[in-house]
Amino acid sequence: MATSLPIVETPAALTGDGLGCHSGAAQLEAAARAAGKSEALDRYAQDYPKGPHDQPQSMCPAFGSLRVGLRMRRTATILSGSACCVYGLTFTSHFYGARRTVGYVPFNSETLVTGQLFEDIRDAVHQLADPALYDTIVITNLCVPTASGVPLQLLPPEINGVRIIGIDVPGFGVPTHAEAKDVLAGAMLKYARTEAEQGPVQAPRGGRAQRPTVTLLGEMFPADPVGIGMMLEPLGLAAGPVVPTREWRELYAALDCSVAAAIHPFYTASIREFEAAGRPVVGSAPVGLDGTAAWLEAIGRAANVADGKVDAAKARILPAIQGALAKQPIRGRITMSGYEGSELLVARLLVESGADVRYVGTACPRTRWSDADRQWLEAKGVHVQFRASLEHDLAAMHEFSPDLAIGTTPVVQAAKERTIPALYFTNLISARPLMGPAGAGSLAQVVNAALGNKARFERMKDFFAGVGEGHAAGVWEDVPQDHPEFREHYKRHLAKLARQRKAEEMV
Ligand code: SF4
Repeated sequence: MATSLPIVETPAALTGDGLGCHSGAAQLEAAARAAGKSEALDRYAQDYPKGPHDQPQSMCPAFGSLRVGLRMRRTATILSGSACCVYGLTFTSHFYGARRTVGYVPFNSETLVTGQLFEDIRDAVHQLADPALYDTIVITNLCVPTASGVPLQLLPPEINGVRIIGIDVPGFGVPTHAEAKDVLAGAMLKYARTEAEQGPVQAPRGGRAQRPTVTLLGEMFPADPVGIGMMLEPLGLAAGPVVPTREWRELYAALDCSVAAAIHPFYTASIREFEAAGRPVVGSAPVGLDGTAAWLEAIGRAANVADGKVDAAKARILPAIQGALAKQPIRGRITMSGYEGSELLVARLLVESGADVRYVGTACPRTRWSDADRQWLEAKGVHVQFRASLEHDLAAMHEFSPDLAIGTTPVVQAAKERTIPALYFTNLISARPLMGPAGAGSLAQVVNAALGNKARFERMKDFFAGVGEGHAAGVWEDVPQDHPEFREHYKRHLAKLARQRKAEEMV
């Protein structure tokens, strides 16, 4: 019979206007620690180091893990969080074509503080755990339930043979949606590794690979794993699953690899599982000429492949990459930023295509798996900014006056206001092949087309000249008066609130 959890006092951060990412990460984090979430928060602090960019400036981080779960077959997803957060997250997931139901366990102040919310979650999970439909149920605590200490770790690990995975993905503990993908992928790999250690597990759908495999860490364009597989063939290796996987059984195959390739370098929790399984990990990716040569050598070393075979693989693939790069050169000065984790790889490709890249910013943290790419770019004079904020990206654009700014939505908007052609990284750049010969030159078409747009922007600027900018933007009978003193007043008000919060923290 279910028993009620003890009644706890409502944390101050969860009262009044304190229910969201606007309410101050420090208070929410303090509440979560007081409610017993220190272990998870300490692990996140280690896995996803903050600073200088401490807060999400883009979407809610939980979108990353939500999307990973929604893309997996036979996986049910439940969110536990404020209704407004869940509304935003489900809206975004359906906007991106989830075509799956997102479960939600609602709460109010009473069910939150009496522990009834946890019991409601437990009931929901029991109702949903039908092995005919699901391999796994993923339940995610968003900010408020995490800050309140809703103990998902007390859920049973499996019900009727359906695995139950509970994760906390608060905005005050996981900085970006990219890293939230790793939170879920890492939790699943850990579960699958434990299962594999205890006995036989399901084989991959198409049977075990004939050759030793290289697991690919990080979401990528669908053609890239195929291209990587062709590059690995002369080494006697094959491309293994891509993590995050699309199905539970692929997790076993992923762990069963010879080498794990951290194509995206921020999958810290997942990498921990590969290392625990005794698998070597290799950073960077086969992008461009230098990148592909170095990556094949590193994979060869990690998988104990004879040098001759590595040389043969390079001889087969590098001339094709060189040809593709030379065929479609890029000429122009570029600044670039994004939050997907593949920014450094794209920048390498742009540099090898001939572009004058001055700045690359990524919202993701620096890890040892991005070191090779960072060093290569810095040697070419590119400023690499990890945990880049919008302010960094804008400052770079002002500093370098690029011919093209590639970035997030606000960067693109700011660039266009200055008549600088701009491309949105997530939709237009990261959704393209990057690896090997297919990747070399794939960027050139879209980048060169954008570079050629400068004259159009100038025509537009001329056409709209006089309709007003900033506070006076639009068509008015009486042009609005600017009131910089109001902004100053509000700024002082915010600074006062921040000082008050700081003082309360120190009490
Ligand atoms: S769950 Fe996401 S949207 Fe909701 S408060 Fe946290 S960071 Fe903000």
